[in-house]
Amino acid sequence: MSDRDWSLTSRRTVLQTAAAVLGGSIALSPSAAAAAAPPSERFSERWWAVVQNSEEETTVPTLFVLDDESETTALEEMGVKNLRTTTATESPAAYGEVPVNSQVLYSLARGDVARTVLYAPGANPFWKLEHYPNRVFPEPSAATGYVDYAEFEQGIDRLVDEHGDMLRYRSVGESPGWLDREARSTAPKDVWVVELTNDVRDRESFAEKQKLVVTLGIHGDERSGAEAGMRLVEDVVSGDAESVASALDDVALVFLFPNPDGWAAKSPLLVDGRFRDANTFKRSTATGNDPNRQYPTAGWIDPAHHPAEPRGRNLRDDGAGVDEDVPEEPVDYTEQVPDSLAVVEHLRSYENVTWAADLHGMFASETMMELLSANHAYDFADAHAIFEYADRLRGRLDEELAPLLSERESVLTEEVKAMQEAYGMDERPPVPTEPFAAGTIFDAVGYSTTGGLVSWLALSEEEGGVGARSVAFEMALDNRLRGSIEYRPDLLDLQMVGHRTAIETLVEAATAEADAAVETPDGETTAFVAADALRASSADLPFVTDDGETTDEGDDERTSTAESVTVAPDDTATRTVTVAEETHSVSGRVRAASGAVDVDLLDPSGSLVRTYEGETLATSAKRTISFVVSDPTPGEWTLRLTNGVGGEATVDVRTTAATGDGSPNPLTTLGYEQRQYEVTPLDVVGPYRSFLDRSDAVTTVTTDDVSNGALDGVDNLVVPHGVGTDRDAYVSAIDDFVAGGGNLVLTDAGVELLGDLSADPAGSVDADAVSRATTTTAAVTERVDDSTLLSGTTPIQRELAKAGALGYVVDAAAAETPMYLVDPAPFESDGGDVAGWRVVRRQSDGGESDSGESEGDANASESTAKKVALGTLSGDAGTVHVVGSLLPAPSQSNLHPFGLQGHAPSHCGYTVLANALGHATPPSE
Ligand SMILES: [Zn+2]
Repeated sequence: MSDRDWSLTSRRTVLQTAAAVLGGSIALSPSAAAAAAPPSERFSERWWAVVQNSEEETTVPTLFVLDDESETTALEEMGVKNLRTTTATESPAAYGEVPVNSQVLYSLARGDVARTVLYAPGANPFWKLEHYPNRVFPEPSAATGYVDYAEFEQGIDRLVDEHGDMLRYRSVGESPGWLDREARSTAPKDVWVVELTNDVRDRESFAEKQKLVVTLGIHGDERSGAEAGMRLVEDVVSGDAESVASALDDVALVFLFPNPDGWAAKSPLLVDGRFRDANTFKRSTATGNDPNRQYPTAGWIDPAHHPAEPRGRNLRDDGAGVDEDVPEEPVDYTEQVPDSLAVVEHLRSYENVTWAADLHGMFASETMMELLSANHAYDFADAHAIFEYADRLRGRLDEELAPLLSERESVLTEEVKAMQEAYGMDERPPVPTEPFAAGTIFDAVGYSTTGGLVSWLALSEEEGGVGARSVAFEMALDNRLRGSIEYRPDLLDLQMVGHRTAIETLVEAATAEADAAVETPDGETTAFVAADALRASSADLPFVTDDGETTDEGDDERTSTAESVTVAPDDTATRTVTVAEETHSVSGRVRAASGAVDVDLLDPSGSLVRTYEGETLATSAKRTISFVVSDPTPGEWTLRLTNGVGGEATVDVRTTAATGDGSPNPLTTLGYEQRQYEVTPLDVVGPYRSFLDRSDAVTTVTTDDVSNGALDGVDNLVVPHGVGTDRDAYVSAIDDFVAGGGNLVLTDAGVELLGDLSADPAGSVDADAVSRATTTTAAVTERVDDSTLLSGTTPIQRELAKAGALGYVVDAAAAETPMYLVDPAPFESDGGDVAGWRVVRRQSDGGESDSGESEGDANASESTAKKVALGTLSGDAGTVHVVGSLLPAPSQSNLHPFGLQGHAPSHCGYTVLANALGHATPPSE
């Protein structure tokens, strides 16, 4: 099955080959001429092509089919390293690493040793002979490397042969495919899905079962999840994973391998048509897209991404498979993201997907493993279930992973040192000592994303997703620690313990008893104040007609540039980015292929708008910087690339501009119609209420209701907006409520009400002590861990609401999400309890904006202020809680083709709200 019919050349192949020949010199350079016949007929053509395309002094994993076992000695004498032999095959065989060195190659060609010489990358040295000494996917300590993509295909095929009652696998589509030097055409790879359950071929019972989707290696250079997943599959069918096997009457596990390009990229024969790169696993696919940014998620979509919607332009399913109306303009999605289109189409075919986990790897971290809850508006019950799963997992990892961290401390330290050296870092990155932490994506990695696979999986079916409780996992020291990736079995098996435990615990969580409800104090009532002004509807958008049709009127468009720029040592290259009138946003990405550059972005007046020095590109592990500038000044912008590091630097530069007055039209900028929606932050109330032990514990009231005495008998009042504060009757009703002993929760623009209220304890804070800041996302900068409001959350949890899902730009340098903050002096003077702080930067125009996440360092010279973002004022009678951002009104100003969500509190946000209301969340296991 690894042999493909190369005569079936697709249009894509022709285009990509042409692009490679035109755009780069490497792809079909004379040195890579695969036509050169091997110097010995014992050498397979593929092996010889690999040797020719490998760097000198690297080694090529090689399988020798021998006439006699004694030939092994000769191989050793010729310089073949790390030999392993077997006599259990038809002919004896040896596996070894052949140094790419003319002396060794000459000896091998001349010496009359071995009948056949084959290229044999992978974990099991003898897989090419279909010889599986112990297991199909050997334990890391017995393996010769990471499981190779083709080895996986053969191995899973064999497991399915032997265990067809439990295992089924199929290709759901193809990747874009790298250029194959030997075949001289692109080599798209299959996107595989493996289904594991009892009686897997009984499709009726399969449909009824809960599906747990586990996605492996979406970033191809993060291998540990895929390594763990494959071996778990083998263990389950072999009877070595009882906890999973015993659930398979009720549960079906669906393992997805979404990025075969990134996986197969390790082969020296597969090359990027655009720029040279080391032969190692790659994060992206062959089109250079990060596959974990291309999913059709709700909320803000970065126009630079290629969201894969297989229902095409009209967002409606027109028939089986990827629809005909998938746009070709302005992005040809079937060219750019065929893999993501296939994944979306396939995963939508499953009914009853309850949970999903996407396994990733990261660089260095104090924490070995992190759970990241998706950027999605979960209901309280789902947010709680996810963190209950996290607690369950924490308990197991404390037992199983924590001891390994101390035991293998020297291995971990060695990897961290290697990373520091490879990237020339001044400071040594942290060695993981904590086994586990859980939070949102922002909590865990410090930035937010749109278009992520898990966030799409979490969307309801009506919103185009599959409705799963979905999480991602990050695993420390699982990335290009040395620039490339070296196989370390004593690190991999530790990482596998983490991933395997996560999957086993997911099965446990999925089959556990239903969650307990939140307990509310007897007889107490909570009212949320609603306001029509907060409602956002697709019908408000200028390009949507009264019938909900998206018109292509107007001149909104998306323009992109992509080029490879080479910068000589100590030199600076500049690129001009022309920004037209009424440009909504400019997105950019700079990725290092070799060397390193510092990146500055200057606006038409020459002011520095973004700067990335040292921390980026090849001097850092991340290699890629990306930015989004909203509402840029028209004119000539400058992207300045400075090579101060030495050595020639080559970088891939892409920019995308979207025009539009207000929200860009998705039809003209991306080719998709606008998904219709009608949402309000008050949508949070229904699901919140249904997670309580009493259905009459929460009601919604209008501002008029409040003015007209509706607060009689209400114990807790939540005001998430500033509507109605111009009416005295409304304000005095709330004053009376507090004076009468009420518990008031002010969130978002509702915090401004503090300035209008005079009842104790609100009276101590004047209007000018409350300010509106804009931030990258709704998060506190500093927590007061033992505060009542944050009780039930963990130290990494700082994000209160996921702003991307609400339509806000959440690029690291963006500052769009509103937070309402209170000056500490008046707040604390009256005995206020602070639970969370936000550090903001003072601007020259008197406004305030986010200080980013770098308070104290990068912006140390700027004027910053520390403000109350979470806190409680207690009076003689009433209580007032301040939550700076929890239910921000959705933003319709940015591109959001797949709709908006009305509310998106994180688990931390919900817990703060429940704590403020005196609602007791169910105890965790
Ligand atoms: Zn990743």
